[in-house]
Amino acid sequence: MPHVKSLECRECGRTYPVEPTNACEFCFGPLEVSYDYESIARSVTRESIAAGPFSMWRYHDFLPVGAEAAVDMGTGFTPLLHAKNLGRKLGLDRLYVKNDSVNPTFSFKDRPVSVTATKALEFEFETLACVSTGNLMGAVAAHGAKAGMRTVVFFPGNLEDGKVTGAAVYGPTLVAVDGTYDQVNRLCSELADNLRWAFVNINMRPFYAEGSKTLGYEVAEQLGWKAPDHCVVPAASGELHTKIWKGLTEMGDVGLIDPPSTRMHLAQPEGCSPIVSAFETGGERVAPVRPDTIAKSLAIGDPAAGVYALQTLRETGGSAAAAPEDEVAECIQLLAETEGIFTETAGGVVISGLRKLAESGAIGKDEVTVAFITGNGFKTQEVVEHLVDPAHIKPTYASFEAAMLDGK
Ligand SMILES: *Cc1c(COP(=O)(O)O)cnc(C)c1O
Ligand SMILES: [Zn+2]
Repeated sequence: MPHVKSLECRECGRTYPVEPTNACEFCFGPLEVSYDYESIARSVTRESIAAGPFSMWRYHDFLPVGAEAAVDMGTGFTPLLHAKNLGRKLGLDRLYVKNDSVNPTFSFKDRPVSVTATKALEFEFETLACVSTGNLMGAVAAHGAKAGMRTVVFFPGNLEDGKVTGAAVYGPTLVAVDGTYDQVNRLCSELADNLRWAFVNINMRPFYAEGSKTLGYEVAEQLGWKAPDHCVVPAASGELHTKIWKGLTEMGDVGLIDPPSTRMHLAQPEGCSPIVSAFETGGERVAPVRPDTIAKSLAIGDPAAGVYALQTLRETGGSAAAAPEDEVAECIQLLAETEGIFTETAGGVVISGLRKLAESGAIGKDEVTVAFITGNGFKTQEVVEHLVDPAHIKPTYASFEAAMLDGK
């Protein structure tokens, strides 16, 4: 990691050595990795990146780990698709879908976890752990298995079966906690203080968060080394939203693209939309809520990066949209029927937010817009189960005719 300078407090700017720690000792602000961008600019070019692997590791110069020992399962470099059919419906000619639901464990969480597992091995941890809203635990369990680490995953007990099974198969210790994500998170913060475990989203959070920047780099490269005019991003902790923006600005800083003027929009489900509420009321802080939403992967009531997502919204001129709960399944279906992509509830939230922004005129017809589809519908099948209504026939022509061709 030749380009890393230190960890730096996001609030007071104090610097710390690169260690598994996430909070400033003086002001309790979160720590973030800081880099020597002149050094990055000297070592990367568009050509050097393009010659790299077809995975997120082609951007290793921007990551806080050595690439040689990367725990790499082939995450990243996922398709960016020109969504012509959905765009036509929404009146957007240059709409793209970044389909990050096709990563190794079927969500974008493989990006931050690939970085964290690598860093955890560097720090010689033996146990990789996390607090999950559903997708993180699959990513942690898979990367831990690949890295030969023990894994322990904590999750609120009400998660979808597809998420739990999709993690269990990799052999982690599963701990279902009778409580909300925020309660599980408080418990695990206490555990992280007392056990020498790499909790990917607690003591390893500064490294974890960096992995999501690769979504920003990829989209810019796939658009021909240009930042989009608009990004529409789902938010739980708010980290992904801010880190896509960090990725785009870093690319501008090192001269790989023109300085971006992207508007960074954000979508949350109505039943858990603390960042949207703070944005709408002009607040500086995000008031915690108790989640009650169908989009469980976004059910964080007290978002760790909520204030930074607010800053990103304001700095970039973005908007925040709350998706009505009853639009989530409808919008999953809308994306499937127009573009052939089956996303989970978080994707339904994004498409609902996108539609609202298109209707309000916040996104113009000719502007390049990227909707981030971050998770796979096969993990939350129950929300679209009502669509399963086959014709039942006998294996005879007559039966088919009676059931299907009648009156045609
Ligand atoms: C975790 C998750 C998010 C939100 O990520 P944050 O960085 O916590 O805002 C979005 N979509 C899916 C599918 C997720 O699993
Ligand atoms: Zn500080």
